Amino acid sequence: MSASQHPIQLQGVNLETIAQEFGSPVYVYDGDKIVSQIKSLQSAFATVPLKIKYATKALSNINILKLVKKAGEGVDAVSIEEIMICMKAGFTAGEIMYTPSGVNFREVEEAVALGVIVNLDSIPLMEEFGAMYGNTVAACIRINPHIMAGGNAKISVGHIQSKFGISIQQLPEIIEVVKNFDIKIKGLHIHTGSDILDAEIFLRGGNVLFEAAMNFPDLAFLDFGGGFKVAYKSGDPATDIAEVGAKVSAAFNEFCEKYGRKLELWLEPGKFLVSESGYLIVEANVVKKTPQITFVGVDSGLNHLIRPMMYDAFHDVYNLSNPEGDQKPYNVVGYICETDTLAKDRMLASVTKGDFLVFKNAGAYGFSMSSNYNSRLRPAEVLVWEGKAQLIREREIFEDLIRHQVILDI
Ligand SMILES: *Cc1c(COP(=O)(O)O)cnc(C)c1O
Repeated sequence: MSASQHPIQLQGVNLETIAQEFGSPVYVYDGDKIVSQIKSLQSAFATVPLKIKYATKALSNINILKLVKKAGEGVDAVSIEEIMICMKAGFTAGEIMYTPSGVNFREVEEAVALGVIVNLDSIPLMEEFGAMYGNTVAACIRINPHIMAGGNAKISVGHIQSKFGISIQQLPEIIEVVKNFDIKIKGLHIHTGSDILDAEIFLRGGNVLFEAAMNFPDLAFLDFGGGFKVAYKSGDPATDIAEVGAKVSAAFNEFCEKYGRKLELWLEPGKFLVSESGYLIVEANVVKKTPQITFVGVDSGLNHLIRPMMYDAFHDVYNLSNPEGDQKPYNVVGYICETDTLAKDRMLASVTKGDFLVFKNAGAYGFSMSSNYNSRLRPAEVLVWEGKAQLIREREIFEDLIRHQVILDI
């Protein structure tokens, strides 16, 4: 990989300068990239009434949510806490979709009290919801369409053994419960996985939704979920959004004619909106040669970026400090006492202690999955917006680690 291909600048701001100014490790996000991803979805689905519900869990910094709000779109939240963060960012209850999985009913009640629509993901939850609210509160149903989709088994959630949603095979039971409790069903939802490449998969999911939808006369929307794949390295395939948009929109418009009413089409992209906007900058603590491998040990690890270890995610990595150096093979590893290989057998411009390295595609499920494992502090977050790099989350300090510990007199 030549130096010219590596992302030194975001909106004219040098990534290395950001590391020097804000310290390492640091997450950096390009606000323009998020907005342009939203726009590409909007234009791919221009022939339908599209509503984007950004999957908050991918990256939940309030400033990122504010960018989504500013672009005129909504959010999907999977916990009451995410709902509260979204509201803090300025979203009204009506702009939030709540898609819980196996939560306590008290949490559902809290969401309803706030005025947020609930995506029901089990028959028992439907019954409890129906018994409590009858036809006074409209809801959505999460259907499991039994489609094997997504990059690998760990990120596939719509197959027959998945915990998510209500099996399409249980549709008669769903209809029965809706009838018994007179629940007003406003939407049907699917989300089958992540890193879905093929337009065909979205169409297959759509067909399941279209068929089921004929049983629910009061629908306002169909929600196709998220899961669009982005490129992780040059030449890597990504979901062709224009193709998905054209095919799914055409099928959707045809369905609406049959249904007799124009519905909204909802999407819940997480990764697609924020993955490529994000960069994790780390510093090389040590370059360690062993008989077989040269390791670069960095001031980060699976506590900050767990995706490589959790589901073998690939993150491109570059040496920001010595971009023109000779290319050499390295394993980039973290400082956690646990195997935490962030990048295996990669060619990097020659690394020396103190160099800043940058991991790409760090916007989605990076910071939001970070932890304090090994009693390490979480990094700072910086947003580049309108050509300026600004701090959007302070680096944690030692006090944050022990803030909630109750220290006994032992
Ligand atoms: C995680 C999630 C998404 C987003 O998935 P991506 O692969 O990041 O697009 C969308 N909808 C629901 C319900 C989710 O849980």
